Amino acid sequence: MNTEQFYPLFLQAEKVTIDSRKIGKDDIFFAFSGDNFNAATLAGQSIDNGALAVIVEQKEFEDEARNIFYVPSTLDFLQELAIYHRKQLQIPVIGLTGSNGKTTTKEIIHAVLSERFNVQYTYGNLNNHIGVPLTLLSIKPEHEMAVIEMGANHQKEIGLLCSIAQPDFGYITNFGKAHLEGFGGFEGVIKGKSELYDYLKNNGKTILVNENDPVQVEKTQHYTPTITFGSRGSDYQFEMFSEGHFVGLMYKGTKAVSRLTGEYNFTNLCAAASLGLHFGIDVDKIKQAIENYTPTNMRSQIVKKEGKTLVLDTYNANPSSMTASLHNFITFNGSKTVIIGDMLELGEESEKEHRAILNLAEKSGFDQIITVGENFSRIDSSSLSFGNTAELIEYLKTNRIPSENILLKGSRGIALEKSIDFIQS
Ligand code: ATP
Ligand code: MG
Repeated sequence: MNTEQFYPLFLQAEKVTIDSRKIGKDDIFFAFSGDNFNAATLAGQSIDNGALAVIVEQKEFEDEARNIFYVPSTLDFLQELAIYHRKQLQIPVIGLTGSNGKTTTKEIIHAVLSERFNVQYTYGNLNNHIGVPLTLLSIKPEHEMAVIEMGANHQKEIGLLCSIAQPDFGYITNFGKAHLEGFGGFEGVIKGKSELYDYLKNNGKTILVNENDPVQVEKTQHYTPTITFGSRGSDYQFEMFSEGHFVGLMYKGTKAVSRLTGEYNFTNLCAAASLGLHFGIDVDKIKQAIENYTPTNMRSQIVKKEGKTLVLDTYNANPSSMTASLHNFITFNGSKTVIIGDMLELGEESEKEHRAILNLAEKSGFDQIITVGENFSRIDSSSLSFGNTAELIEYLKTNRIPSENILLKGSRGIALEKSIDFIQS
């Protein structure tokens, strides 16, 4: 079975899935065999339940008469099919990577471009070597554009994802201190993320550049085509303002107030607005998209609870986003408690980075600092510290947090959001 032979069947499918629980009628199921669970045993059952085809990597399950096809590697076949499908598409594909803000930027870009086009985009955070092909395979004939988030924690990963998604436009949200372990330090992050630029340059595609970021400027010097924002000479120039805790963007006198907190989100808004303007979307429509977009995904989200203002930034954390979050929280009026969770995957830099964040928090004048996780716990400090979120929850059951404002930020593995229900007024 090769991709070309299989493609006509794919075109008839409702969707492609790798999750046996989500197989619906006319779906194609890619059975990845796990250690504890042999998905291939589900093949026959799936077909009986109406699946269109099943791809297995065990020769003994093959049954072509019933559309159960054998391939040596389901992952390779998934990627190859995505590449084949991508090549047939005549729509602009926008690829996004960066250390922080990919998902937020992707969501806002989607909101803005959807004012005029039917846009397919990465669902949630499905941004890896499986998620990117799945997103591509979800692009249907009615879609007019696609926005693809690409994540990476080591070298060559973005290069691979680019070879699958083949973006026509690309944007790196920022270069930050994330996944330092896998990338081999900050220089490694720059190199790894820049694989997106390498792809775009090699193929004459357009780079969206934030000219307020010296690394982006340096990496795209003398290159065209570009779309630029962020400095006085840029193609598009925006001004930042804030209304309450929310960040806003002004373009030629039109003001759009987002429902996102944090100055760093201004950059994310600028990226989306620049693409909107580039694709001919009216300023009023861009304003509407920005004002209607409400984060619900634990990223820079503001929640009111029992008279308190909670900043939920518990989706993830690394030194760059943690610093940005703390700086933003400093600007809040009233008493403040920060609950900060460990930043994972920092390798050798871990202790130094945790110490630096704790120092920053300590000198920022917060009324209370609570740390969660073993990395922070190991550092000598006067702050209240818990080994994990379960311990924090036990504390919250019998202790109230006196502050009016509370910031929660930590890595995914710390799952600080579990503590929210236990915060009492
Ligand atoms: P992941 O690697 O988990 O996919 P991501 O790059 O998709 O992350 P988001 O989920 O959009 O990033 O945002 C995660 C957090 O990063 C936000 O809650 C915020 O604290 C911070 N952040 C968002 N945008 C920026 C930015 N432009 N610069 C620095 N930090 C940012
Ligand atoms: Mg993401």
